[in-house]
Amino acid sequence: MYKIVGFFVLLILPFNSISQLQFVSYDNITDSRYRQNILLKKIDIAIAEKSWEKAKVLLSFAYTYGNSKYRVQDIESRLKIAMTNQIKSSPDTVKFKKIKKFNIAKLDKSKNQKTIYLTFDDGPMKGTTNVIDVINKEQVPATMFVVGRHIVSSLTNRSRYNKIRDNRYMLIANHTYSHAHDRYNAFYTSSQREILKDISKNHKLLRDDMLSNSPPYTRLAGRNVFRLPTYVSDDPYITRRQLRREKPSYDMLWHEGYYMYGWDIEWGISKKTKTYRETPHRLAQKIERLYKEDKLVTKGKVIVLMHDKIFQDKYNGKKNLTRLIQILKANNWKFETLEDYLSIDDIKNGKYAQQKKLFDIDKFAANRSQQKRNKDKQADSSTSLKADTTKL
Ligand SMILES: [Zn+2]
Repeated sequence: MYKIVGFFVLLILPFNSISQLQFVSYDNITDSRYRQNILLKKIDIAIAEKSWEKAKVLLSFAYTYGNSKYRVQDIESRLKIAMTNQIKSSPDTVKFKKIKKFNIAKLDKSKNQKTIYLTFDDGPMKGTTNVIDVINKEQVPATMFVVGRHIVSSLTNRSRYNKIRDNRYMLIANHTYSHAHDRYNAFYTSSQREILKDISKNHKLLRDDMLSNSPPYTRLAGRNVFRLPTYVSDDPYITRRQLRREKPSYDMLWHEGYYMYGWDIEWGISKKTKTYRETPHRLAQKIERLYKEDKLVTKGKVIVLMHDKIFQDKYNGKKNLTRLIQILKANNWKFETLEDYLSIDDIKNGKYAQQKKLFDIDKFAANRSQQKRNKDKQADSSTSLKADTTKL
């Protein structure tokens, strides 16, 4: 807190009184080498490094050092802008208003049809532990689309993955082994054998940790594709030409038995501002609108795509994710993993049939509730988890 106060105090203080703060340790400021250009350059560097105090001390010297007034004012305004932006995006200053229910929620006729599927992609990686912490605290189900290559890349990631595996609220799902080497166009137009090899390599790696006899929940890296018994759609953001080339691969994976889940809405970080594209409140409003206007892949069900990395401390991830979940809770959203996205009837009677079956539907139906209970029991016996009364 004192940090924020500090920022404001520094903002309020007239710039030339800053020197009284005695930040004299920064080089020999009075040295004759600090003539105009060098001094201004130093201020620029300090701004870039976000060393505000240093920048201000140097600036106060610039004022008394016979520099061009115009140039000093110019650099002063740049410093002010930089500091204001920093305050806007600084995690310490993220403040939220009291949670309000949206008016839209009042329009719900069937409240229990509002279901939200939080999905987190690309883990294990930086940010994963924050996601786990929030999910545990808020006690809501979440689906984790993990990348095999990340699991095996380091011991830290392996232990992050183990925490996902042991988490009672999390469903493990396949997000390819290589993440398409982050070269999507090339990957999805390479040989179908290579593509299948990659997805099934991850499937095998995760198989023991996934619910047995359940559909192989999969999300393609970099592509918003659905291939489900009830629904088929392709990524709307790639060119038609590219899609024509990729489509056979999606269909191949479907026929090989993989269930592919895209998303209805994404929450991300803006590359430009390095902050969330929407505040949690704004995102929740958007979600509510998608629901109300029936712009969803499946009626009443919203799949939210997020990436573990956006919940790192540098984005104040824990606070923002917690906030989103709390707003959704306050607006009567029911949380589920993708395991509950399709009903048994959807799977059995959906109009799109697969050639291969990677799971046994009858066993899936029988085990679904049993497995959940087992996972509950397992978690209850673990001393590291707090007791809770949340039904899964
Ligand atoms: Zn991804």
